Amino acid sequence: MADQEKKPVDTAAIAGMLKKKEPEMKRILNYCVHCSICAESCFLYMAHNGDPQYMPSFKVINSLGKLYKKKGNVDREFLEGIKGLVWGNCALCHRCYCPIGIDIPRMIDFTRSICRSEGVYPEQDGGESWL
Ligand code: SF4
Ligand code: SF4
Repeated sequence: MADQEKKPVDTAAIAGMLKKKEPEMKRILNYCVHCSICAESCFLYMAHNGDPQYMPSFKVINSLGKLYKKKGNVDREFLEGIKGLVWGNCALCHRCYCPIGIDIPRMIDFTRSICRSEGVYPEQDGGESWL
């Protein structure tokens, strides 16, 4: 991580990762109707007294959603900024329930993979990807 954090972000590589999963991820992002039903099934949201930063849909829209909106054209500051959302604010416990079947953890895991590819991840994270 130490070497990578000095290098500029490889935006072409990020765009490539996004493109590869675009049909699946964008479809899911577009399906979200912002009903907030998933919120109460997230223990972190409940443990933080309903802080919107812990709402499952908020975490995805403000990380992966923004990556797609910017077409991967982001800088290190952006990736460092979403690190807290996709690691600190989500345990990937798969407990969140969406009535239309949106798989929030899958999208957060994918976002983590993108961050890791640029050397952005918490110190305790091994950096390996499951995707
Ligand atoms: S992810 Fe599902 S439950 Fe959560 S706000 Fe979107 S549509 Fe509603
Ligand atoms: S996977 Fe993340 S968003 Fe879903 S319930 Fe667990 S901590 Fe909350």
